[in-house]
This record gives sequence, C-alpha cells and structure tokens, in this order.
Amino acid sequence: LPAPDVTALTGADVADLLPRPATESDKYRRGVVGIAAGSDLYTGAAVLAVGGALRAGAGMVRHVGQHAPVAQVRSHWPEAVVTELERPSIDGVGRVQAWVLGPGLGTGAWAHEVAASVLASDVPVLVDADALTLVSRDRSLLRRTAPVLVTPHAGELSRLIGAGRAEIEAGRLEHARAAAAELGVTVLLKGSTTVVAEADRPVRVNATGTSWLATGGTGDVLAGVSGALLAQGLDCYDAASCAAHLHGLAGRIAADGAPLNAADVAAAIPEAIRRVHDEG
Ligand code: AMP
Ligand code: MG
Repeated sequence: LPAPDVTALTGADVADLLPRPATESDKYRRGVVGIAAGSDLYTGAAVLAVGGALRAGAGMVRHVGQHAPVAQVRSHWPEAVVTELERPSIDGVGRVQAWVLGPGLGTGAWAHEVAASVLASDVPVLVDADALTLVSRDRSLLRRTAPVLVTPHAGELSRLIGAGRAEIEAGRLEHARAAAAELGVTVLLKGSTTVVAEADRPVRVNATGTSWLATGGTGDVLAGVSGALLAQGLDCYDAASCAAHLHGLAGRIAADGAPLNAADVAAAIPEAIRRVHDEG
C-alpha cells in the first residue's frame, strides 16, 4: 500500500475547530446527539458513551436502547433523554444531528435491525464496537449517502477489511487509509496512537494519550465525545481528530501517573477542552 501524507493536529488547531456556544445558542442548535447503545446483556457501554457526549458539549443527548441500559442511563445521567425501544427502530425518536451506533449493542437480529434503522437516517453516523461486527457481516448496511465514521481498534478493522491483525499493526496508516477509500468512510483507528484517515486527505496521527487508557470502556467514551462533535457540525475528519486529541489529553489528566477508569476519562474531558483553549 502507498505511504500516505501525514499531519499532526496541534492543540491550537483543536481550539480553532471546537465549537463554542454562540450568545443566541439553544440546546437544539448546539447539536443533539443520538446514542444507540447498550443491551440487556451489556449496559455499561451506553452509560459511558452518553457520559462522553455530555462532557463534550452536546446540546442534548438522546439515548435509545433496551430496557436495562435505558434504566441505567436514566439513573446515571438525568440530563439525557432516553427512549426504550419497543421495536428495533428509531422511527418516532426525535430529531438528532448525528448518531453514535454500537457500544454494547449486541450482534444479534435485534441489534442488526437497530443498526439498519439508524444507518437509514440522513445524518452522520459513527459506527463502533458491536456495530462494526454487524457491518463487517453485512456491508450493505454502509450503503448510504450521509457520512459514516468508523472507530475500530486493529482487531475490529481486521474483521472489517479482511486483513490480518499483524498486517494492520505493521502498517496502521496505510491500512486505515485503504479502508477509508474502500468503504467510502472516515476511519479512526485506535491503539497506542490514533490514526484518522479519509481518502484524498492527509492522515492525522494523534499521540496525546497514555497507555493507562488501555482499559475497558475508554473506547465507549471516545465514541460519545466524537458523536457530540459531529452533532455540533464538525465533519467526520475533524470530529474524529479533535475527539482523539481531547480523549488522549483527558486520559493523561485522569491518570496523572496512576490507573484511571473510563468514567474518569469522560469526567476529564471539560478540563482537556479548557486546556486546549488556554494553551491554543
Ligand atoms: P477500545 O479499543 O474501544 O477499548 O478503545 C480503547 C481506547 O484506549 C482507544 O481510544 C485507544 O486509542 C486507547 N488506547 C488503548 N491502548 C492504548 C495505549 N497503549 N496507549 C494509548 N492509548 C491507548
Ligand atoms: Mg471498543
């Protein structure tokens, strides 16, 4: 594969790209993010993704899912608007500006129907975790005109493009770029550094993170942060690269040389935003 052009996003770039509420803003104009996440088996991922979105400045967060995750999100986040899905469809759920699809969603028939319904919408969709498994099995789910941002780690990218994991690890930039071109999506490839790739644009590499981030649930927080930035109007490429920058910085703030948990990373997102504004 050809070696792509590479750029790094500075804190000053992120400060310029991040939306700030205008004087006349209201919650709808600031961006409503929809989160289709969690299942009766995996409830925590939805709580973490909603937390990431709330901390990253969404005007409103709507969560949809099965009974157990909806109950958990409701008790953790009184700010969120939650809908227990009677059927696996988002019809009738209020308008959102972007969707986050997949954390803890499951990979069975119910999850497939939810994924099809979300991807049939006309707004940007971030596809993560279980939804990556669903689209790996059924690529036709990705046939849509509105933008798609996929956020795999190397194992998930391996399933998505049918390349070996070792092969991907040996050429992360090249494979992220090739996957973006092949699937017609933006790719955020997670790992010790984060790679953001889109066909015909330089690959952005982010290294603000810390290996303390290698713990369960941090990817769900990243999905929520990215979704909030998409809902606020950033395109997939900028939303993904700003989210990776802020998430890595929040990881450093939360860890400070000692273990962190995923909820701590979400809680540190506002401080990360403050720092890029102060230093940018
Ligand atoms: P996931 O793979 O969905 O659980 O997401 C894990 C998150 O932690 C991603 O944002 C990764 O980029 C980050 N991460 C995982 N391992 C490391 C590492 N060794 N150094 C820095 N960040 C990491
Ligand atoms: Mg994950």
